[in-house]
Amino acid sequence: MPATPSWPPKSAPRLFVADQLGNGRILALDGNHAHYLGKVMRVREGETVILCDNQTGEWAARVGQVDKRSVDLTVIERLRPREEVPDLWLCPALLKKDRFDVVLEKVTELGVGRIQPAITRRCVADKLNLDRARTITTEAAEQCARTALPELVEPVKLDALLRDWPTNRALFFADEEGGQPAGDAFAHQGGPAAILIGPEGGFDDAERRAIRAHPNAHAISLGPRILRGETAAIAALAVWMSEAGDWADGGADEE
Ligand code: SAM
Repeated sequence: MPATPSWPPKSAPRLFVADQLGNGRILALDGNHAHYLGKVMRVREGETVILCDNQTGEWAARVGQVDKRSVDLTVIERLRPREEVPDLWLCPALLKKDRFDVVLEKVTELGVGRIQPAITRRCVADKLNLDRARTITTEAAEQCARTALPELVEPVKLDALLRDWPTNRALFFADEEGGQPAGDAFAHQGGPAAILIGPEGGFDDAERRAIRAHPNAHAISLGPRILRGETAAIAALAVWMSEAGDWADGGADEE
């Protein structure tokens, strides 16, 4: 991922917008975007804002008229193309809302490509407010300067997830009862991958058997301690990004 450029300033507000961006495009942002820019960030005419459209990349835009309900912007130049997102899915069993919020935010920062929540027999929660969840992942992407949003899809029941699993994608099953050390497993795999994490109460025996019987499944260990689901998701993402993801590129300083 190319280094974040020095201009505009790192403090410039950063927003994902629905409109496709391009040189000279004029936008009139309203609603939450206008409130954030006008009232929270208190932008003034002539200042610069960074916009992403999750399609073409990241652009600098100049602030025009600012009033109570809308902020006018003119797109002036592209700063970075949309990044290559590591081809990693996270399949976290739904957790209690505040804990699942942590998963959504942290795995977005860590670079996940797609979040495919799973519903298992011991899940406390059995539904997800997708709009609210997308707000969390979008805000996390804005904060960590991603130029691409993670995909976030409706939760599916575990049996359907396994039945419809893509044949070309490895399914790393985080099993607190044991498995290959995650770092080793990820380092030697390559290709599209996914990590499956259980709920607060873990997988039941039948679920564990079904997962382990899947031809793409590969049990991994995240160490000798029992991690909370959110901790396991964050830890597994970090190890995968380091062993097989875009941390291996060495980041900004390695230009
Ligand atoms: N069975 C656990 C217990 O005895 O308390 C409860 C499940 S744990 C809170 C939630 C999930 O995190 C597990 O289903 C598993 O996917 C993952 N996990 C936790 N610790 C792990 C470890 N040491 N290795 C691999 N996965 C782990």
